[in-house]
Amino acid sequence: MLNRIDLADIHAPKRLAGMVLDMLGPLDGAVPVVQVAEALDISAVHIDRFDGFEGMLLTDRRRTDGVILANTRRGDRRARFTVAHELGHFLMERHVPSDEGGFRCMPSDMHEKSKAERHYRQEAEANRFAIELLAPAHLAVPLLVDPPDLRQALSMRDLLDLSLEACVRRQIELADQTLAAIWSHEGRVRHPVRSRAFPFLTCQKGHALPKETAGFRAIQKGERGITRMTETSAIAWTNNPEIEIWEQTRIGKNGHAVTLLWADMPDEGDDNGESHRELGMPTFR
Ligand SMILES: [Zn+2]
Repeated sequence: MLNRIDLADIHAPKRLAGMVLDMLGPLDGAVPVVQVAEALDISAVHIDRFDGFEGMLLTDRRRTDGVILANTRRGDRRARFTVAHELGHFLMERHVPSDEGGFRCMPSDMHEKSKAERHYRQEAEANRFAIELLAPAHLAVPLLVDPPDLRQALSMRDLLDLSLEACVRRQIELADQTLAAIWSHEGRVRHPVRSRAFPFLTCQKGHALPKETAGFRAIQKGERGITRMTETSAIAWTNNPEIEIWEQTRIGKNGHAVTLLWADMPDEGDDNGESHRELGMPTFR
């Protein structure tokens, strides 16, 4: 049974999510996040099209009550993540509301990983709670077999009812291989994400995708679907000729695409694989 009293004084987002999952009992698919929120003293969840924010938690500092608003403008699956994010703010009672009425979270907050300032740290913690709750490792990892493939993120999306973007991020984080992904729109980088072990990426937000890459050619062709994982120019992506890089692109709707990059790093020692996995973990907790 879900019970907020047993969750009091837990401030680590991953542990908190684990406790909620334990209370919920065995699951073989998507976490019923709205029911979970309502069982943990959220009095209402409104999922609808809103203007000016991605999610909102109406509450006070003492969390006597909570109402969650989640925007569907970017899809119902993103809204599920947003509900979990706001529930994270509600349960992590040290989080200080952004204004008198509660928390107002913007689209950029949903990607926040920095822990430099309180606001960013709180957003990063709410995101960590949300992904650990909605894509727990015990459900996500079995999908991530060798070799890596964007279809594994698609399977995760369908199993866990999450956005593909959240699932690709989770794949990068949890897979044994050294991965990165580049989201693009009409051949321009929207944002790159890489595990910490992945080498520096030369293309940054706003850049055109390098012409020497298979992703560029696939996007030029414009056929929707998923390309084969192929070896590609390491210099084009990383400026480092020592690494072997493989890439695969999924062309979606309206010029949107995501390219998965897989780096086969030069061997440096015995425990190489293990240390990569360790380095691939997120820096915040
Ligand atoms: Zn937030």
